[in-house]
Amino acid sequence: MSSAPRTWLGDTETKPAPPGLARIQSLINTFELPTGPDRLAHRDDARPWLHEQGLLGAADDVNDDDLRFLREVREAFRAMVVSNAGGPAPTAAALAPLRAVAAAGAAHAELGDDGQVRLGATGDSLRDRVVELLLAVRDAQRDGTWPLLKACANEECLWAFYDRSRNHGGTWCSMSTCGNKLKNREFRARRRAPN
Ligand SMILES: [Zn+2]
Repeated sequence: MSSAPRTWLGDTETKPAPPGLARIQSLINTFELPTGPDRLAHRDDARPWLHEQGLLGAADDVNDDDLRFLREVREAFRAMVVSNAGGPAPTAAALAPLRAVAAAGAAHAELGDDGQVRLGATGDSLRDRVVELLLAVRDAQRDGTWPLLKACANEECLWAFYDRSRNHGGTWCSMSTCGNKLKNREFRARRRAPN
């Protein structure tokens, strides 16, 4: 326990989503594709993040099955935001983990002091609470923000970013790390191509 707390790329989003959707973005960005660190690979890394995200009760712990389940859910969400970015629609296989969450999940309504009605998970376990991520997607689909949560067009990256560009035509998580890299690669490919 002597090592300093690790820093993760997802802790400092350069294109953060609004609060509800930020939970989805944060989940997708627990893994730096293609071979980077995975925050959901080990319990010691995952636990603090799960507490911070409200997916794990303060006194609760996480097991390896839960982490496997969450990684599957993460990739289902990633397939959805790839589609938001103009990529292919998610396959039934890609969506299966989230469909299971939807089928098993239970939600209840809460009336806040501010008069706002919110839906929350009925159960308290990690798997119960994951339904709140689906509720966040539902809210975002209704308020129009959902299509703006996109996956980076660099297929080796697929980082989730929130597109605040004026024409909603954003393509890259970051022009400097992904946009320029791909542009340079295409440029070199064109130069190599026989005329
Ligand atoms: Zn990227």
